[in-house]
Parts: sequence; C-alpha cells; structure tokens
Amino acid sequence: MRRILIVTFVFCCSIISATQTQLAPAVKGFVKVDSPVTVLEHVLLIDGTGAAAKPDQTIVISGGKIAAIGNSGSVQIPAGANRMDLTGYSALPGLVGMHDHLFYPAPGGLYHDMPVSFPRLYLAAGVTTIRTTGSMEPYTDLEIKKAIEAGKMAGPKMNATGPYLEGKGLPLVQVHALDGPEDATRTVEYWISEGAGSFKAYNFITRAELKAAIDAAHRHHLTVTGHLCSIGFKEAAELGIDDLEHGLTVDTEFFPGKQPDTCPNPTQAVIAANKLDINSEPIQTTIRTLVDHHVAVTSTLPVFEQFVPSRPDIPARVLEILSEDARKAYQANRARIAQSKESPWPVMFSREMEFERSFVKAGGVLLAGLDPTGIGGIIAGFGDWRELELLVDAGFTPLEAIQIASLNGAKFLGEQDHIGSLAQGKQADIVLVKGEPSKNISDIENVELVFKDGVGYDSKKLIDSVKGLVGTL
Ligand SMILES: [Zn+2]
Repeated sequence: MRRILIVTFVFCCSIISATQTQLAPAVKGFVKVDSPVTVLEHVLLIDGTGAAAKPDQTIVISGGKIAAIGNSGSVQIPAGANRMDLTGYSALPGLVGMHDHLFYPAPGGLYHDMPVSFPRLYLAAGVTTIRTTGSMEPYTDLEIKKAIEAGKMAGPKMNATGPYLEGKGLPLVQVHALDGPEDATRTVEYWISEGAGSFKAYNFITRAELKAAIDAAHRHHLTVTGHLCSIGFKEAAELGIDDLEHGLTVDTEFFPGKQPDTCPNPTQAVIAANKLDINSEPIQTTIRTLVDHHVAVTSTLPVFEQFVPSRPDIPARVLEILSEDARKAYQANRARIAQSKESPWPVMFSREMEFERSFVKAGGVLLAGLDPTGIGGIIAGFGDWRELELLVDAGFTPLEAIQIASLNGAKFLGEQDHIGSLAQGKQADIVLVKGEPSKNISDIENVELVFKDGVGYDSKKLIDSVKGLVGTL
C-alpha cells in the first residue's frame, strides 16, 4: 500500500484566440461538421452557468462563434445554413479540464507524454480546453499546443503549465530540483519566455522558493497552483498561491509535529487528516483561509477512486484504449489494491468528497480535473467524464458539477468572456450528448459531436483512432 501511496504522491500530480485556422488533412479526417453556418435545433440547453436546462433550444454557429441562441422557432435561421435536428440531445459547453496532464505513468515509474492519444481523447470527450497542471516534457507540451493552434493536430485549447517547480527530495530524474529562490525566479521567467501559461509547485518546494515563483508568475499575470507537501494549505494561501490541487487528501498541515519546509510521510499525513471531522475547527479554519485568500481547489476524484478497493475498475471501453503493457500494469495494480487490508483510502475518499462540498458551501471555487496518473487507469477524456460523475456522487447536482467543470475553469483562466458557458458571442465550443446529463450525469459518456471554434469533431472517430495506444503514444 505504501508503495502505491508514494506513486500517487510522486505524481498524482494562454488559451488561443480562435481565428479560423486551415486544418491539415490529418485533422480534417476527424471533422464531421464544418459549415460556414451551422444550426443546432431542438437541443436541451445546459449552459454551464448552473441555470436549469432549457428544452427545445436552437443555437446558430457562425464564424466559429455562437451567433444566436434561444427558443426554437424564435431564432432566425440564416439562409443556406446547415441545419441539424438534435431532438433527444443535450448541448453543453466544452469542458475546461484543470488537472489534465499530457503525460501518463509508464510501467517502470517514469512519466511520458502521450502526444498522439491524449490530445485526441480530450477533444473526443468534449474537453475543449485543458490546463496541463505540471509538465514532465514541457517542450513537447508546448509543441503540441502550437501544432493544435496551427490546425496540424486534433486536440483541445491548451494552457501549457511549465515544468514542475520542485525542491530537493523527489526521487524522480525527470524533475529539476530548485536550488533556492533565485532559481525559482529564473525558472519561472525562462518558461514564461518559452510560452508557459501557468505554473505548478510540488511536494518538496520551500516557502522561499514558492514565494519567489508566485511573485515572478504574478508579475506576468500568470497563476501558480500546487500539489504541496512541505507547505501546508494555510501557509500556501498566505504566500499568495492561486489554486491547490487534490484537496484535503494532500494537505499535510494536520500532521502532528509538522516541521516548516519539511514533507512528512504522506501515508502518515493522510492518516492524521483522517482523524479530524470536516466540520472541526482546524479544517473549517483552513477552508475559511482559502476562501478569504481566493484560493481555488482542483478536485481530482478519479485518480483517488482507483485506490479504493470497493470502487469499480475502469470500464472495458477504457481498457481497450490502453496498450497491452499499460493494461497489464493497471490490472496488477488493481489486484494489489483489492488485497490491501488496512487502506486509508476508503475513508479518505469519502472525506475528500465531503471536504469539497464544504469548501464550495463556504464560498470556495472548485475546479475539476482527472489527473491521469496514479495506478494508470485514469485516461484523458474518460477520466474527465468520471470526474463529473464523482462530483455528483459527492453531493453536487449534475448542473453544479457541469458548472464546476466548465465555467469555473474558464473564470479561473480569465477566459470566461470566450469559453466556459453557452451564450451569444462566445466561441462555439459545444458538446452534443445523447440524453440528459442535467438529470443523469452518466449520460455525459454519450458524447457524439464536439464543436471547437465552430468545427464539429466526430467523437467516436477520434477514440477509435487511438485504441491500444495509451501507454505508448
Ligand atoms: Zn497531477
């Protein structure tokens, strides 16, 4: 169990302005709808703001944007438009995945980008924008972002997070260990000059290094998030961090005898946090501190779910996407977890859900991601769907869960004027789903067509194109 915990803690963890781009033939092969004017008629509208779903709506897409939206019959249909009767379908905003790495844990313990499969799978699932939230191969991430923007690759809009900002102590050769606050400043400045759109601090960073990184990023109006261990949540809020990944599960400040700038044993820290009631004063004080400092929290329930023995394995549909090696590694990990007797995860998982509800109730901004790491079954796109389902398991309504996974992320990225909800004038990033995810959140898995900047991509084609590739490419 401890080995598994270490794996999680080791790596559990500017959007383009859409001008009309010429798509390369390789991308065009995934396009189902690309008309000057497209009209989506008779859809159930879930606009991403948390408002009630509206039946029988019509959306006019023109020039990559939502030109009009309203009751069917009252919206004027331009002559020559490509009209689609979507009775039985829901339209929701393209999801904004906020812990959506491009890398995956390779069997053997390193983390490699999945440059072919992951961008396609995010798009296929309706995740039209991602923040990569820590990079193992920052140049690869940045090149993928450029290729997508140039129409050479199918994939989501990207906020490419720089390489992990980590202190000394992480046993992973892929990550640079900062050598003090000057190094933190220099690293942040350099990666901004290369195109990084955000930063993520990691387990062993010191307070001085984190402060220097935050100051440098903020000078450029960029944000810093963290999956911290040496620094507690309240300390990080005081230092000016903008977001914290994973939630209570990784907050070490409740560990008895926690020393400043020191990462305690994560298993022991989890057990210590488990002893406190969510409504107890210490945890409520942390929540209030985050809310007062406008620190968001990113929910990543799918990566944790797979550590819980009683929780379901990933579906067959997702297993098919994995390479043989990755599938075997995942199944071996699940078999080991099934045998673990005294796992802290069943309790921690339900308490994490409780924490996230309590944080939102107190006025906190919750963001959504999947974190495709852990034991390896958490896959781009599919994991984003699972996050929505788990938010509903946690007690949010489907409409709240969709808002968390769309508009909240867009606002955090400062992109809410363009993406994150469905309204006239916004980019036409629209997911078409058979069914009513506003009632049954698992209908989110029925994505058929995903519009990004008004171009409609065939979800099934994108998924079929990467079967057996995850773990390799
Ligand atoms: Zn992660």
